[in-house]
Amino acid sequence: MTELETNKRKWIFKSGWRGLCPRCGKGAMFKAWLKISDTCDVCELDYRFASPDDGPAFFSLCFVAFPLMFLVVWIQVAFEISVPVLLLFAIPVMSVGCVLPLRPIKGWLVASQYVNRSMEAGTEKLWAQMHAREDQAKREKEEN
Ligand SMILES: [Zn+2]
Repeated sequence: MTELETNKRKWIFKSGWRGLCPRCGKGAMFKAWLKISDTCDVCELDYRFASPDDGPAFFSLCFVAFPLMFLVVWIQVAFEISVPVLLLFAIPVMSVGCVLPLRPIKGWLVASQYVNRSMEAGTEKLWAQMHAREDQAKREKEEN
């Protein structure tokens, strides 16, 4: 039994956090900061299934930006610091706080898509046909 089968959530968290392939846990999921690889270098997992879209931005906003904003407002109220000083502190904290979590969040979303085999509802057949056609073309290319 692999780690993926024994503990789905832990596996999603781990491979997403480290940006590793959700199938083998060895290859890199990202080829650039937020760019998903085409295939895994180790197990050749095809990343065409991965489509987190604006999910990372949404989660970053909800779970990082809003709490940070409350923190900034609380600091302003509690310590009565001047607005320029507050901005000097708040702007870098807010920007770094929103950008840094994007990659692990994207990793988690892609890993959970892989683990749960999620697809847009009702498009399973379309995907299967599309991949079959691409794979067929690839095979024909290899044969020639
Ligand atoms: Zn892999």
